[in-house]
Amino acid sequence: MTRALEGYIRPEITGTPFCPGCGHGSLMGTILRAIEDLGWDMDDMLFVSGIGCAGWIPSPHFNADTLHTLHGRAIAFATGAKLVNPDLRVMVIGGDGDLTSIGGNHLIHAARRNIDLTVICANNMIYGMTGGQAASTTPVGCFSSTTPQGNPYPPFDLCKLLEGAGARYVARFAITQPLELREAIKKALTLTGFTFVEAVSPCPTQFGRRNRIDQATGMIRYLQEHCLPKEEATGSEGPDKIITGEFVGA
Ligand code: SF4
Repeated sequence: MTRALEGYIRPEITGTPFCPGCGHGSLMGTILRAIEDLGWDMDDMLFVSGIGCAGWIPSPHFNADTLHTLHGRAIAFATGAKLVNPDLRVMVIGGDGDLTSIGGNHLIHAARRNIDLTVICANNMIYGMTGGQAASTTPVGCFSSTTPQGNPYPPFDLCKLLEGAGARYVARFAITQPLELREAIKKALTLTGFTFVEAVSPCPTQFGRRNRIDQATGMIRYLQEHCLPKEEATGSEGPDKIITGEFVGA
């Protein structure tokens, strides 16, 4: 029997390590479908990840060369690989804790230098695998293992941050918008220069449980209720709204 995405997932893979209701499995499929749509050969690509649940999306699942590196350092490794072999199509996949908190400095400077990389940031608004700590993306008032009385600090708007840093393409969609997300990933891959896609992906185990959104379906509902296309935004939305769309390079 032929399975979906045959050739894109290692034949020995029969499941994923993600918790029930995690958005990362859906994001994994969306990334691979974008590559399949483009007809790209996985042998021409390198996938680089750091530490965290999203780091497991490419490695061990993708049937390609993958580089599983240190916490927060995926972009530094990816930059080195691209410099050594400029023909390589290099994609970095990581979580918000890994890429924008611990690795935030690498992220903004790779954008500023317009390094030819595509970065997919799976934003679940918390550190997932490493213990549910608050990240640079945790909304004000939300509970985490390090903010048991609610996070007092405002989160980064990752798309504004990357726009300010000079990224060539910047977009945000949730995994509940798979078609838009897939198109954004395709566009990010085909443009030359530093491209960034924020994929909002639910973490029911760390974020949902601590914030009393107990079930996987509750997290999906949370995303559906909080996402707002930028075309419908008035600018007076509260900080809990997740504005989606293409922000640079549309
Ligand atoms: S801890 Fe969260 S991000 Fe990690 S696999 Fe579980 S649900 Fe997904």
